[in-house]
Amino acid sequence: MTDYPAQLGLYIDGEWISGGGRDTHRLLNPATGEGQADLPLATIADLDRALAAAERGFAEWRKVAPEARAVILNRAAALIRERAEHIARVATMEQGKPFAEAKGEVLASAGLIEFHAAEGQRVYGRVLMRPPGMRSMVLHQPVGPVAAFCAWNFPALNVVRKVAPAIAAGCSIILKPSEETPGSAVEVMRCFQDAGLPGNIAQIVFGVPDQISRHLLASPVTKKLSFTGSVPVGKALMKLAADSVMRMTMELGGHSPVLVFDDCDLQKTLDTLVAHKFRNAGQVCVSPTRFHVQQGIYDRFVEGFAERTKKMSIGNGLDAASNMGPMANSRRPDAIAAMVEDARSIGARVLAGGGPGDGGGFFYQPTVIADVPLEAKAMNDEPFGPVALIRPFATDEDAVAEANRLPYGLAAYCFTENGRRQNMLSETVEAGMIAINQVRLTWPDAPFGGVKESGFGSEDGPEGVAAHMITKAVHIA
Ligand code: NAD
Repeated sequence: MTDYPAQLGLYIDGEWISGGGRDTHRLLNPATGEGQADLPLATIADLDRALAAAERGFAEWRKVAPEARAVILNRAAALIRERAEHIARVATMEQGKPFAEAKGEVLASAGLIEFHAAEGQRVYGRVLMRPPGMRSMVLHQPVGPVAAFCAWNFPALNVVRKVAPAIAAGCSIILKPSEETPGSAVEVMRCFQDAGLPGNIAQIVFGVPDQISRHLLASPVTKKLSFTGSVPVGKALMKLAADSVMRMTMELGGHSPVLVFDDCDLQKTLDTLVAHKFRNAGQVCVSPTRFHVQQGIYDRFVEGFAERTKKMSIGNGLDAASNMGPMANSRRPDAIAAMVEDARSIGARVLAGGGPGDGGGFFYQPTVIADVPLEAKAMNDEPFGPVALIRPFATDEDAVAEANRLPYGLAAYCFTENGRRQNMLSETVEAGMIAINQVRLTWPDAPFGGVKESGFGSEDGPEGVAAHMITKAVHIA
């Protein structure tokens, strides 16, 4: 086929599996639209084998000392660093993002594993004050085998976000990464395998998503659901998991507001926001999306945003000149085109982009739309693409009301030099993460997660490990 550099397979009980008459899924290169590999899909028997292995694995792994788990995690991180260029190439070829972005993602994944290696050794219980002869303790124990499902937009980091905290906490995990970006997951998993992680602790399967989630979540072996993806699929999985009152972590969609006030450093704000908006072609759950700009700087903001956007260079992510790649799959450009046309038809002004890109791949131009009416579809449903939607506002109250208008609550961005206003926004904007005068939200030691319909239960930070532990109170006379 092509020079796609990953050998795809299911990883079950320490064995790489493919062939055997299993159905396959044709993997496409989003920069060309061409097939580049065939991914084997798990059968029900494969899933049952993975469940049995996860149950056995958990029984052993929970007894392993946290510092011994950390040795393996740190080795896996070192291997990921060593193989970063290779894994990044796989990620770019299957997901489309520019190689430099992919490499940054892979290195961030290694950093996250190292954080969890240490954090797994910092799980503290409590001994409570009691009269002599009485002792009360609070213990934290690993919850058990985890079933995890994640999206394609960060094909390496999303995998690590699921696997690292689970195994640091002493759990086993069966992960179904996206069928559209399997190679990055496979290559990350090989690093865990080569680092000495027993094959029944972290396993990966691919298949028909609905069939896999129904089967894994119906099993009494599974004790926790962890999902990264859209709100509708998250809700469906929560219903399945409710039958066994399973623990859950839900990282769902977002529609991040950006509140830009008259007193911001305008040029710096524009430089920062344009680069961040088009990272991963806007296919980021925390992507800045609804730009609410105060009236005094509105015209200059719109003009500066469009001007910078027109200078972006779109192309194959393996080409060093590209600073934005294609969208990840053939559904995305059509979905974005429909949203742009809808906004245009009700009076919005398209100032940059607004159409498909050149070439055979899944390209859509970086697009800037001003004066977008609130009723436009894109102002209400998550676009998940390279589209900046800009509207003016008058007062602080208007800005906060608009930020909080939607049922999403993942990330929000604010640009203002006024400290009192920064505090007010930190208090009143409904989001799991707020960035003020900069755009970075992902740090290994900080919780990552949303509120409202964007989900609950954070990943990363001490919260990531804690989400894989149960709490037990013990009272002894
Ligand atoms: P999606 O929900 O359709 O798919 C996400 C993942 O879930 C894919 O791997 C898919 O195979 C899998 N999936 C789909 N249906 C499933 C089912 N019934 N059972 C089990 N797994 C299933 O979402 P998408 O459109 O492919 O991805 C983009 C969405 O993911 C956006 O809404 C985005 O905001 C969200 N996302 C959220 C975060 C976060 O951390 N909050 C991170 C990345 C992406």
